[in-house]
Amino acid sequence: MTIATHPVDTALELAAAITPRLAELADPIDRGETSPHVAYQLIRESGLLAVMIPHDSGGLGLDFADYTRVLAEIAAANGAIALGFNMHNVAIGSLFEADVEALGATGVAFREWVIGEVVDGRKMFASAASEPATGARLRGISTVYRRDGAAYVLDGHKSFVSLSGVADHYVVTARAHDDDSEIEVSHFVVSADDPGVSFSTEWAGTALRGTSTAQMFLSDTRIGADRLFLGIEGMSLFKAVRDPHWMAAGYLGAYLGLAEAIVGFAAQRLSADERRRTQPADVQRLGAMTVALHATRALTMAAARGVVDRRSDQETNATVYAAKHHVGETAQSLAAQAVALVGSAAMAADGPMQRLLREGQFCSIMPAKPADCLDYVGRAQLGANMFDVSNHGW
Ligand SMILES: Cc1cc2nc3c(=O)[nH]c(=O)nc-3n(C[C@H](O)[C@H](O)[C@H](O)COP(=O)(O)OP(=O)(O)OC[C@H]3O[C@@H](n4cnc5c(N)ncnc54)[C@H](O)[C@@H]3O)c2cc1C
Repeated sequence: MTIATHPVDTALELAAAITPRLAELADPIDRGETSPHVAYQLIRESGLLAVMIPHDSGGLGLDFADYTRVLAEIAAANGAIALGFNMHNVAIGSLFEADVEALGATGVAFREWVIGEVVDGRKMFASAASEPATGARLRGISTVYRRDGAAYVLDGHKSFVSLSGVADHYVVTARAHDDDSEIEVSHFVVSADDPGVSFSTEWAGTALRGTSTAQMFLSDTRIGADRLFLGIEGMSLFKAVRDPHWMAAGYLGAYLGLAEAIVGFAAQRLSADERRRTQPADVQRLGAMTVALHATRALTMAAARGVVDRRSDQETNATVYAAKHHVGETAQSLAAQAVALVGSAAMAADGPMQRLLREGQFCSIMPAKPADCLDYVGRAQLGANMFDVSNHGW
């Protein structure tokens, strides 16, 4: 009798084949000694770019919960590369949750094109949404498109684009040039070699060099009408309100993985210290950190499982925002506790903990930000209709 392998086990095996090398690369990439391209090449060759593509289309066919587990494994080895890899899935993941029957011929053709690019071409996608004046918000963006015969022409400036120079295709948000409603935002696929596409030098931040993040400029960029996401204009904000999990919390697994790495580091250092590993106070501090890790893992996985079992549901979405808030706060708090427990060895410049400390802070910057999460959860608790766009900061 053969036992069918569950898709998540296959994906975890593929991840396990590259995580030791990704872990070795984390500090050299962080210090700028090694290019992140080396790590993304491993991801491309692993087959993991097809994690969200349905099984019958040649992919691994994971759902959002299993994806979150796999992302956590990658992030425990290398948080920055996990965050970059996540943007590929943020860009295309929602395509495979949509009911194919309801897509219409243009939507189906678009979906098939994406599948072909990823499965046959091993092409990587990225998400170019944030802008200088609005951050990650969809309302008020200045990137515009206009229809010109059988083409769309885009002009704009994106402030932070992970996978710049790495990805082949960029899913760009834009509004119609003659529409000031702020509500109607669309997504388009722009390719790295399309006319008028350029990137700045990489963003020089205090961490996450491995995301390969830069500004993106679009100047008179002409693309085919078939590059409109799912062939539908003006759906982006509506989608973010109904199904916020990719945009607001695709990162869940990444920050969970960082939290796992932080507790793993503290445990390994305590265990190597003969004197302290039997001290009740130190063991209990590690115990408290582990309890916090269990709690955030449980909430993260409950939120991710809710997306699978009850998608487009207000309670599910409130749990997603709650989890995004919790995992970020927990990762940051665990990092501070690890430093206090381990001592000076945690802050050695050639050790991983000072990197984990810096990386954990970025959960407060990436959407949904802590205040936005609390705003959502508070409003939902007060009974607001969270499918009403006026209740959202997006
Ligand atoms: C390493 C890294 C990688 C990233 N990768 C990506 C990526 O791949 N794709 C992507 O799209 N983004 C990406 N981002 C961007 C990220 O998602 C955030 O948009 C960005 O970091 C927000 O920056 P901020 O906190 O400085 O801006 P914010 O505080 O969000 O503010 C930005 C602007 O918005 C205005 N603003 C703030 N609040 C409001 C409000 N309520 N109403 C109206 N305007 C407001 C502010 O005045 C400000 O001018 C990345 C960021 C980093 C650091």
